Amino acid sequence: MKAFNVRILLIAPIILAIAFGSFLPQSVSADVPKAEDDFQIAKVAEGVYAAIAKSGGLASGNAGFVIGNDGVLIFDTFFTPAAIEELIAEIQSLTKLPIKFAVNSHYHLDHTGGNQVLAARGVPIIAHDNVMIWQTTKNKRFLPAPEELAKRKADAAKQLADTPAEQADKRSQLERTIRRLDAMMTIKLTNPTKTFKSGTMTLDLGKRKVILATLPGHTGGDVFAYVPDAKVVFTGDLGWSRTLPNLVDATVNDWIPTLDQILKQHPTAKFVPGHGNVAGAADIKDFRDYLDDLRARVKQGIANGLTVDQAKQQLTLPEKYKSFAFQNFAVPNVDDMYKELKATKQTN
Ligand SMILES: [Zn+2]
Repeated sequence: MKAFNVRILLIAPIILAIAFGSFLPQSVSADVPKAEDDFQIAKVAEGVYAAIAKSGGLASGNAGFVIGNDGVLIFDTFFTPAAIEELIAEIQSLTKLPIKFAVNSHYHLDHTGGNQVLAARGVPIIAHDNVMIWQTTKNKRFLPAPEELAKRKADAAKQLADTPAEQADKRSQLERTIRRLDAMMTIKLTNPTKTFKSGTMTLDLGKRKVILATLPGHTGGDVFAYVPDAKVVFTGDLGWSRTLPNLVDATVNDWIPTLDQILKQHPTAKFVPGHGNVAGAADIKDFRDYLDDLRARVKQGIANGLTVDQAKQQLTLPEKYKSFAFQNFAVPNVDDMYKELKATKQTN
């Protein structure tokens, strides 16, 4: 019996070491970030995939891809070159077909930050005309200057050095911040190569077609994609699933009819939203209703004589939207809505 106990004592540290990965080489150990820390691939239909961004990773916005008979279309290029490289590796694990097209749903950096990778591969990048104007200008507000990024990185590195090993959560948070800053330092704002501003554009992937169209609301330069044979819509940021939207460039008065039109045309489609999980029409309708509720509440507030600051304080989010992600947008959205209704908002 005594000998048995000794053996357990000798083996226990080995079992623990295996369980916690300390026997693994550094390149595959648990704390080295990988694609699965940045996004989750979800198969939406045969050959149609969503890449759902994970919080704090290098993707930030959702992307997706469509595999046809003679090539692949990538819808949106994430926030960083590193993230789109990871997506290309995922695609290449599924098909040997070349990447034939990329699409930018709109200019926001969390959907275009990987453009340079596709441009370097000679892949045409298709977007709304306005992306050509805003990609390298307005996006600067989402991409701090190199000196600022370097300063933030130095601050995070110092904090990490000062954080003891027992505070593992804080350390891993700081490591993720540093990884994100490193990835941001590699972004070169890169224009699309082919643009349009009205009607539709049909992209040919052999037998499979992808139809692009544009509608207003989120930025005034948004493109969404429909895969007719699979009944899948990639909405870009025209659609958010169980997530409060960013209204910084939005015109809600245009956005609600846009969503009504998309829902009317695609009542049974699956939707790959710009943020949040793969959705059905009911989720897109909930999002449309959030915008409508917001507009109605703010309109009433203005009628009651509230100032913008009073509106931001008093018009709290209805219960039904409190489980949505990105709660930090709740108050700024009242501000944006107020300014839109008062016609004082600086929009595109
Ligand atoms: Zn956006």
